[in-house]
Amino acid sequence: LPLWFSPETGIYTSKFPSLHLPVDPNLDAVSALFSHRHDGHTAIVDSLTGFSISHIELKVLVKSMAGRIYHDLGIRQGDVVSLVLPNSAYFPLIFLSLISLGAIVTTMNPSSSLGEIKKQVSECSVGLAFTCSDNVEKLTSLGIVVIRVPESYDFDSIRIENPRFYSIIKGGYEFVPKPLIKQDYVAAIMYSSGTTGGSKGVLLTHRNLIATMELFVRFEASQYEYPGSSNVYLAALPLCHIYGLSLFVMGLLSVGSTIVVMRRFDASDVVNVIERFKITHFPVVPPMLMALTKKAKGVCGDVFRSLKQVSSGAAPLSRKLIEDFLQTLPHVDLIQGYGMTESTAVGTRGFNSQKLRKYSSVGLLAPNMQAKVVDWSSGSFLPPGNRGELWIQGPGVMKGYLNNPKATQMTIVEHTWLRTGDIAYFDEDGYLFIVDRIKEIIKYKGFQIAPADLEAVLVSHPLIIDAAVTAAPNEECGEIPVAFVVRRQGTTLSEQDVISYVAAQVAPYRKVRKVVMVSSIPKSPAGKILRKELKRILTNCVTSR
Ligand code: AMP
Repeated sequence: LPLWFSPETGIYTSKFPSLHLPVDPNLDAVSALFSHRHDGHTAIVDSLTGFSISHIELKVLVKSMAGRIYHDLGIRQGDVVSLVLPNSAYFPLIFLSLISLGAIVTTMNPSSSLGEIKKQVSECSVGLAFTCSDNVEKLTSLGIVVIRVPESYDFDSIRIENPRFYSIIKGGYEFVPKPLIKQDYVAAIMYSSGTTGGSKGVLLTHRNLIATMELFVRFEASQYEYPGSSNVYLAALPLCHIYGLSLFVMGLLSVGSTIVVMRRFDASDVVNVIERFKITHFPVVPPMLMALTKKAKGVCGDVFRSLKQVSSGAAPLSRKLIEDFLQTLPHVDLIQGYGMTESTAVGTRGFNSQKLRKYSSVGLLAPNMQAKVVDWSSGSFLPPGNRGELWIQGPGVMKGYLNNPKATQMTIVEHTWLRTGDIAYFDEDGYLFIVDRIKEIIKYKGFQIAPADLEAVLVSHPLIIDAAVTAAPNEECGEIPVAFVVRRQGTTLSEQDVISYVAAQVAPYRKVRKVVMVSSIPKSPAGKILRKELKRILTNCVTSR
């Protein structure tokens, strides 16, 4: 058996050399980020306007914005501030300024509904929010102080139209007493449903963020012949999700790369942006890869000359899509990464060498990570080649769920092991393959949807007696949520009524997209929804058509 697997303990260890992470307990993620010095090349660019900030300006701006947020808005260590923002060059600045003060940031998708925002702000005790104009009213109605973040970078207009934001971004430096921030303190609360139940606040510490950052600085930079500063990354993934936040804001800014921020992914724009900014690296989720591949077929290959690597994560990639992409853009390296919100997106790193190209693998365990593959019936730990539930351990693993010790205990087992709820195996070369999921989440275009959240919305309808939600496979989106509904007898509630009812209460990406009326929901004697049975009914519905 290979050295990276111990049959005695059942532990798989990263094949990469361990990284020495900073040991100073009093280190915050922003100080760690700015301890890496970079010259005056570009750090952040807005893809639409070309507005840019250099690495030197970034440090100065974060410091002065933190001062303004402290003095003008009264934010102190431990306060929870919500970012309900689309991607923009402002996003990283606001995030870094806040956590440098010891404040805790909770991010939300800007398309969230009032109900979703209300749940999260009340669970996190949010007092202040930075948001776009679409959400100002929703947040204000919840009694939260709101700072409207503009779309533009025209500071003359911003000074007149939005003096409050202008003062934060341009008000200048004012001294702030440096708070004592320990690595162990919480920096961000991201939302995820984990292996079961509704969405929960995932507590990520400064240590977790530092771990993702060091991974880039020491590992990524050493793996490539070209230094971080010549890499231009396209940031089209949402920064409100851990994949975008840890990669672009923490990892790439600390390694000295340039990130070109797109407000939202649009396949037609992407081609122009890749050409205009000479993008070298493009992190995607599978639906983005599909759209990019389709688009690239109709475009002269030269447009993509600068592109060296596309990395996909957050959801499985189909073999067909992999082959299609490799045929369309053969000069581009394609890798997959794997991680989860609960591991600060740290898990594996795709890795293609001259000899080994395993495109359908999610790669090798990242440095400092360990894993076990657990047989779910016997609880034994399985050697390479065997499928079981993947457990991972390492410096990215969360502190726990917010105010939910029970869920934390169920998810972090044997003190340090994170149960991923994914079924996986390692091959004889140490490459990890994700083959299935035993947890309940649905992945729609890489976004998580918790069936339990949608079920709660469904049963709040006066004509719905019971409901259950599961995933149906979908070529374009990966998976879509399907609702099984038991309607009150004698009523005429239609499938479309149910779809509209849910759509009015959740973010568009979380909509129920198909409804099956049933006479009862399959449940165990203890009342647990039998989700496998739902999947079987769904398959029968499709095949009987
Ligand atoms: P999230 O917390 O939203 O990042 O979701 C994490 C989950 O996404 C994982 O537990 C997997 O189920 C799934 N996932 C992430 N990356 C991949 C990948 N490369 N291939 C397959 N599934 C993935």
